[in-house]
Amino acid sequence: MTAPIIRTRADLREMTRGWTRAGETIGVVPTMGALHDGHLSLVARAKDMSDRVIVTIFVNPKQFNNPEDLENYPRTEHEDARKLERFVVDAIYVPDGAQMYPDGFATTVSVDGLTNVLCGAHRAGHFDGVATVVTKLFTQTSADLAFFGEKDFQQLQVVRRMARDLDLGVEVVGCPTIREMDGLAMSSRNLLLSDQARSRASALNAVMEDMAEALTKGAAIDDLLPEAKARLAAAGFGDIDYLEMRTNETLTLIDRATEPARLFAAAYMAGVRLIDNIDVPVTT
Ligand code: AMP
Repeated sequence: MTAPIIRTRADLREMTRGWTRAGETIGVVPTMGALHDGHLSLVARAKDMSDRVIVTIFVNPKQFNNPEDLENYPRTEHEDARKLERFVVDAIYVPDGAQMYPDGFATTVSVDGLTNVLCGAHRAGHFDGVATVVTKLFTQTSADLAFFGEKDFQQLQVVRRMARDLDLGVEVVGCPTIREMDGLAMSSRNLLLSDQARSRASALNAVMEDMAEALTKGAAIDDLLPEAKARLAAAGFGDIDYLEMRTNETLTLIDRATEPARLFAAAYMAGVRLIDNIDVPVTT
């Protein structure tokens, strides 16, 4: 069944009002479209946990620090709607820029601390853009629950912090990263890779898995980095923005796996910025 595509706040409000009055919970899955099985796993979880499900599709200009990246971002609305059919969601909300940021728009939601590292340190203004749009999407959709992927683990923690700090009354649910058969984390950006670059990109996860195994056995990350970086370069990766181990809750940099932590990476393959993160079990 094709879900209604809603394009305005007014139409959305009209829909959600009845649901809220009836005491139904609303689960929201915010996306930028070009949907893949990673997104769809969030939709499945939302269906399990909520009475009503809204998938939002909005390529948010405020979270792009590079105009070319924004321009090239894949947009596949028709395909996206088709992929959602089997989930029978209640609405697909596809606002345009004017709906989200009307003339005179002047407010920014900014989360301190967690956003100073990793992608926050490399993409100026990115998390302000994320926090601002997610706040708006939560209020516009009257969300009770919202579903985010661990694929963007820093984003998940930023959104959790923001929802708590602003008393938004939204339960933020984190969902595991869905991967391709060769370990590459699914991402809309993978569509931008040539066949050759796509097959080389799997080295990122392979290198990270080997590092995580050594870290769990007690290794210090500094001792692992030279070989890891050499393997990434040999696979065809260019710049590495970061390859670091950080604690789960506060994203504090650590060198040995002595507390719950993840390994985080961002690296360029053929000009496309790929990110990944994996759990590092605590050294026993
Ligand atoms: P995006 O469209 O890239 O902004 O992603 C929308 C949501 O889908 C975010 O919460 C992402 O973390 C999540 N997501 C993207 N890729 C994956 C994946 N491979 N596995 C799980 N969730 C994902």
